[in-house]
Amino acid sequence: MASKVNTGKKPQINHTNPLAHALLEKLDYDQLTNCMRCGFCLPACPTFRETGVEPESPRGRIALMKAVADGLMEPDDMFRDQMNHCLGCRACEPVCPADVKYGQLIEQARDALEDHPVHSLPVKGMRKLFFKGVFPHRSRLKSLGRTMKFYQQSGLRRVARGSGMMKLFPKHLQDMERILPDATAQGVIEQLGTVYPAKGTPIARVALFRGCIMDVMFAGTNVNTVKLLAEAGFEVVIPPEQVCCGALHAHSGELDLARDLARINVRVFKEMNVDYIVSNAGGCGALLVEYDHLLHEDEAWKEQSAWFASRVVDISKLLVEHGRIPAFRDGASSSSEPVVVTYQDSCHLRNVMRSGTEPRQLISQVANVTFQEMKEADRCCGSAGIYNVTQPEMASQILEHKMENVNATGARYLLTSNPGCLMQMKLGVEKHGCGEAMEVQHLVDFLYERLNHS
Ligand code: SF4
Ligand code: SF4
Repeated sequence: MASKVNTGKKPQINHTNPLAHALLEKLDYDQLTNCMRCGFCLPACPTFRETGVEPESPRGRIALMKAVADGLMEPDDMFRDQMNHCLGCRACEPVCPADVKYGQLIEQARDALEDHPVHSLPVKGMRKLFFKGVFPHRSRLKSLGRTMKFYQQSGLRRVARGSGMMKLFPKHLQDMERILPDATAQGVIEQLGTVYPAKGTPIARVALFRGCIMDVMFAGTNVNTVKLLAEAGFEVVIPPEQVCCGALHAHSGELDLARDLARINVRVFKEMNVDYIVSNAGGCGALLVEYDHLLHEDEAWKEQSAWFASRVVDISKLLVEHGRIPAFRDGASSSSEPVVVTYQDSCHLRNVMRSGTEPRQLISQVANVTFQEMKEADRCCGSAGIYNVTQPEMASQILEHKMENVNATGARYLLTSNPGCLMQMKLGVEKHGCGEAMEVQHLVDFLYERLNHS
């Protein structure tokens, strides 16, 4: 990849429009000018593929950012829409010959947009509630888990659905409610403690990043992650003071909040003095691995954040590159026929953490499994953090096309490595599945269920 090239100086413009001023201040102008307009990124971009229009492409969005920064256009509603339509999937980065850091540009643009927000009151309230009030606080996440569990198990859910009350919500939220997994207040630490010993001689000491929503909605996957790591020879510690990674904040223009969370995590994990920091969610891992960039302007945190970022790894890569990979037996299939399995990449795992081959390698090591590669498995499924909530139309269009490729595999299992993708794929199977039984699972759960516990 080409190294950073500066082809233009930040213009000295006194913008009268405050949003244009914020964009000029916050955007990395070198990155804007590094884009040489070649268009190699266009075929990789899901929103361009869906719409075919230039402003819905990475090149188009970069051109819009630069035009506003240069004072050639006003940041109007169309500008906001194009910035918000981007999935942040970063499929445009690996294909870019100029190594333009598009992910950083879109985060900077959204950060500037959030300095001058135009949200309705309810959206403003929800953002404040979740970004500031819930995600950063473990005790409140546990309360959320407890409340959701009560809703799911007490019969309230049946009443809400039966009474037609759910119809008060927009259709896409009704759909999401249907596929929500069972929530719990018993996260991985409540179930396993803070230290879990390795099986046999320890290869390394690793720390689990448990996530925020992950530990409420997918606590079972966190538990299986720890046990799988232990089985492969790693001693696992789980720092109790760790907080949300800040990915949803960073992608939604709340960079200062993301930085506050990053500082807490860097401090807490540094104290553990571990060899690796393990993520099992592509969306979280991709921000964790870039904490050094997130905090690069903060001299006091430069060294520590670089230490942190250099140790972050996805579980699949750690198992393949350093683990004693255990034998994975045949599943509980009643037939002796091989089980067909396919895999949907997490965009952030593939495009940012660059772990595309390791999940496939692990799947191929399971007994009696035939791995069927899906056409365009590297294309975003439309989940993209909270994109399927904020941009339901585009998310649904992308999902529908994704499901054509999923169904063509004829797989019995559809695996993925990120909670958001997992829920989106569940929704896809429910709405557009081909009618045959297809189970959607996190890669870790699929592997853990097939461990030979000898
Ligand atoms: S591939 Fe890179 S350099 Fe080419 S248009 Fe896209 S962002 Fe610009
Ligand atoms: S991040 Fe994804 S959606 Fe956004 S411009 Fe790049 S490829 Fe397109």
